[in-house]
Amino acid sequence: MRNLIGLSFDELTAELAALGMEKFRAKQVWSWMYNRGARDFAAMSDLSKPAREKLADHFTIARPAVSMHQKSEDGTQKWLLKMPDGQEVESVHIPESDRGALCVSSQVGCTLTCRFCHTGTQRLVRNLDAGEIVAQVMLAKDYLNEWNDTAATKKPGKPGVPGRAAEEKNRTLTNIVMMGMGEPLFNYDNVAKALKIIMSGDGIGIGKRRITLSTSGVVPMIERCGAELDVNLAVSLHAVTDELRDQIVPLNRKYPIKELLNACRNYPGASNTRRITFEYIMLKGVNDSAADAKQLVRLLRGIPAKINLIPFNPWPGAQFECPEWTDIEKFGDIVNAAGYASPIRTPRGRDIMAACGQLKSASMKLSATERAAIDKLIAEKDRAQGLVA
Ligand code: SAH
Ligand code: SF4
Repeated sequence: MRNLIGLSFDELTAELAALGMEKFRAKQVWSWMYNRGARDFAAMSDLSKPAREKLADHFTIARPAVSMHQKSEDGTQKWLLKMPDGQEVESVHIPESDRGALCVSSQVGCTLTCRFCHTGTQRLVRNLDAGEIVAQVMLAKDYLNEWNDTAATKKPGKPGVPGRAAEEKNRTLTNIVMMGMGEPLFNYDNVAKALKIIMSGDGIGIGKRRITLSTSGVVPMIERCGAELDVNLAVSLHAVTDELRDQIVPLNRKYPIKELLNACRNYPGASNTRRITFEYIMLKGVNDSAADAKQLVRLLRGIPAKINLIPFNPWPGAQFECPEWTDIEKFGDIVNAAGYASPIRTPRGRDIMAACGQLKSASMKLSATERAAIDKLIAEKDRAQGLVA
């Protein structure tokens, strides 16, 4: 049976038209799905009983199965979701006092192999489809109980058209960060379709200014992403020389720092009030010196930027360490003195392996042999990407 989650409004309208249902029915169904979070057609009380039954005969609006659900002592929650083909991905909710972000995955695993990232060591990789991306947000809203429960709270706007988010109090899922598993710009079409649904008025209604897409630097897709989606851009820079970035972010061998920063300079919509976030992972003794900080400032000159320092989050088998907090602060001070905001990202959910870069479906302890096997796998993936000879 076809799952309706992830269809654009036009596609939904066409599916329903094939069953002889008019467009206003599609509007109702859309609103039930994305504004009120209905989990089955029986709940759609303003549709006639025969219409509800017909829908249930042909379609579902089922969520992915939850293989594991964990809550950190700091309130962060992680869901391991099982898709119908058995593949698993993770999403993470990070609450703050007056808002909160959902960290959404775009792929099962990742074809890239950044050396500090757990997801990069995963063998299986496939793109998520738009429905699987949107469903992560829906499932989190189910758990957080953040659907509108009356028609009176109907959001403004039209289905399928980006809408103004309604003023909502006491919500903890206000922002979306495409920073889970996978490289979103390697799955652009599905990510774009999903984000348009997430932005839609009379629906989830999370606006583009509350959505951030993080890329490891897929240069040819950056401009299109800005022009079509106009979401906030975050770039995983992590190193200030090509020599080092080639090693730790192998995609740099295809798209070196200069090309990446040029794409950032041209990012549509970037301005001093809407800066590009440069993510910079702090790796002890690798990229954390004062000289690195000064070079970072030089590189970013002329780009409306802010720098997010990310303390390295360890995972079993990782070959890096996190610097002392005071050393991260010293690095931040240099960047800050040059006029860039340089917040240090507080690690959240480390106790449940939910922090940045720790996501991978199965947690594991590694022996030396297993570690060698992972190194081999990474080399194979780099070759497959054409990143090494
Ligand atoms: N593929 C995209 C988005 C997912 S990764 C990207 O690379 O940007 C989200 C962020 O987590 C990236 O900035 C990534 O570099 C960072 N990250 C990966 N592994 C990490 C780790 N072990 N500790 C801290 N941050 C990590
Ligand atoms: Fe993939 Fe991002 Fe991890 Fe690199 S940091 S391996 S691009 S998920």
